[in-house]
Amino acid sequence: MSEGGSAKPRPAAEVSEWSAEADVVVVGYGVSGAAAAIGAAAEGADVLVVEHTGGWGGAAALAGGFIYLGGGTALQKACGFDDTPEAMHMFLSAAMGPGLDEAKIEVYAERSVEHFDWLVRCGVPFRAAFFDRPAWEPAGDEGLMYSGGENAYPFADLVKPAPRGHLPQMADKRTGERGGGYMLMLPLTKTAEQSGARVRYNTRFQRLVLAADGRVAGIVARSFGEEVAIRARRGVVLAAGSFAFNAQMVARHVPALSGRPGSAVEQHDGQSIRAAQAVGADVANMWACEAAVHTDPGLMIRGIVVNARGERVINEDTYPGRIGQALMLRHDSQGFVVADEQAVEDAAANRVSSGMPAPQPRWVSDDLTELEAAMHVPAGMLAATVGLYNRHAADGQDPVHHKAARWVRPLCPPYGVFDLRGHTSGFTLGGLRTDIDGAVFDVDGEPIPGLYAAGRTTAGIAAGGYASGASLGDGSFFGRRAGRAAAKR
Ligand SMILES: Cc1cc2nc3c(=O)[nH]c(=O)nc-3n(C[C@H](O)[C@H](O)[C@H](O)COP(=O)(O)OP(=O)(O)OC[C@H]3O[C@@H](n4cnc5c(N)ncnc54)[C@H](O)[C@@H]3O)c2cc1C
Repeated sequence: MSEGGSAKPRPAAEVSEWSAEADVVVVGYGVSGAAAAIGAAAEGADVLVVEHTGGWGGAAALAGGFIYLGGGTALQKACGFDDTPEAMHMFLSAAMGPGLDEAKIEVYAERSVEHFDWLVRCGVPFRAAFFDRPAWEPAGDEGLMYSGGENAYPFADLVKPAPRGHLPQMADKRTGERGGGYMLMLPLTKTAEQSGARVRYNTRFQRLVLAADGRVAGIVARSFGEEVAIRARRGVVLAAGSFAFNAQMVARHVPALSGRPGSAVEQHDGQSIRAAQAVGADVANMWACEAAVHTDPGLMIRGIVVNARGERVINEDTYPGRIGQALMLRHDSQGFVVADEQAVEDAAANRVSSGMPAPQPRWVSDDLTELEAAMHVPAGMLAATVGLYNRHAADGQDPVHHKAARWVRPLCPPYGVFDLRGHTSGFTLGGLRTDIDGAVFDVDGEPIPGLYAAGRTTAGIAAGGYASGASLGDGSFFGRRAGRAAAKR
C-alpha cells in the first residue's frame, strides 16, 4: 500500500449516504484553499472547505509571507520602483524554468497588479517600505524586497530589475511558527467566511467520488475515525499542498530532497495528487523543488560558496534559494562558505535575525592547504579558487560568476570555513497539470469534469527555478481562479 492510504476513487453508486453537500467542495484551508473559497463564493456558490487539521492556515500561516507580485503594483510605486507586466514576464520566463508553463506565467504577470489590489481589498496589509540588505527576509515589517535574484546576474543583464517580494505587514513575526504569511491568511480566511464559506475541520480528504459519466461528484474523507462522503454539486478544488512529506513520492520523484523536507507541513503528504492521478490526472514537474540553504545570506555574499571540490558554484549575490538549489541539485548538497574576518564582521553587523543560529566557522586557518585537508577538498583546489577570485577581485571584478562589484573584495587570511553540508532543505514544486483556471488535465490533455486544483498540489509558475513568494503568489492567484471556475461550472 502506498503511504497515505488508498487513493482509488469511489463510484458514486456505492455511496449510500452523503453526510454533507455543497456546490463547491474545497480540500485544504491554506492559501490556495482560502482563495478558492473566496473565488467560488464570489460567483454565488455554496462552498464547503474540508481541512485535515483543527485550524486554518496550513504552511502558508507559518510562511515568511513573500508574495511574488509585480508589473507596477501600488506598493512597488509607493517604494519608488517602476515595473511592467512585460518585465515581470521576461524575468519569470528566464528564472522559473526549465519546465515552465508559459500560459500560467503569461496570465500571472499580466494580472499581477489586479491580484495585489484584490489582496488589499481582502484586508491584507502592506507597509510601503523597501528592504535592501542581503537576507532571507526583511528585518522588520517592510513590505517589499528583492526575492528572486532580479538584481543579480544573469537576470539583471536581461531585464531591468524590480523587487517583487511583497510582504504582509506583521509585527513580531516568527517564520516557521507564525510568519508574515499569517497576516495573509487571517484576512483571507475572514473574507472567505464572511462570503459564506463553511469550514469543516479535522476532516482528512482520502479519495474522489466519480459519477457514472466520469464526472467528479464529491469526496470521501475521514473525520474522527469515521468515513464520510461529501457531495460536490459543481466541483471539487484540491488545495491540499505538496508531497514534500510523502517519503515514497519524494524518493521516487525528487531523490535529492529525500530526508530534507522543509518549508512545508506534514499534511503535505501528496494524497490529493495521488487521488487525482487515480482518476486519470496528469502531473508535471514532479522532479522540481524549492531549496533553502540554512545560513546567513549576508555571509555568503561577502565570501565565496564552494562545492566539495573547492570550486565556486554560483554568484553569491543572487537569491539565496538559487544558491540552495545549486548546492542541492547540482552539488549533492555538499558546500562550504569561505570567508575572511572582514566578511564575518560585516555580515554580523548587518545580520537580520531569521530564527537560524548565527553561523560559526567549522575551521579557521591562515593556510588554505590546511583547510583543504580538513574539508577533504583535493589538494590545491581551494587555493586555486581563492587565488583566482582574489586576482580578479583586486580589480573589483568577478568574470567567472559575475557577482556585482559592490560585493567583490579579495579575501585575506585568516579564512573561516562554514560547513553547509546537511544544511539544505526544500519543498516540492511538481503536481497536477492544470489550466489557468485550475481545471485538472487528464493524461490525454482533456479537463476532468468537476475537478480543479491549485497551490502546491499543482505544478505552478515555478519549475526548475524559484523565487520567494512564488508559492503564496500562485497559490492565491490560481486558487481564486479555480474557485471561480468550479462555481461557474
Ligand atoms: C517556514 C516556511 C516559510 C515559507 N515562506 C514562504 C514565503 O515567504 N513565500 C512563499 O511563497 N512560500 C513560502 N513558503 C511555502 C508556502 O507556505 C507553501 O508552499 C504554500 O503555503 C502552499 O500553499 P498551498 O495552499 O498549496 O498549501 P497550504 O498553504 O499548506 O495549505 C494546504 C492545506 O491543506 C490541508 N491538507 C493537506 N492534506 C489534506 C487532506 N488530505 N485533507 C484535508 N486537508 C488537507 C493542510 O492541512 C493545509 O491546511 C513557506 C513555508 C514555510 C513552512
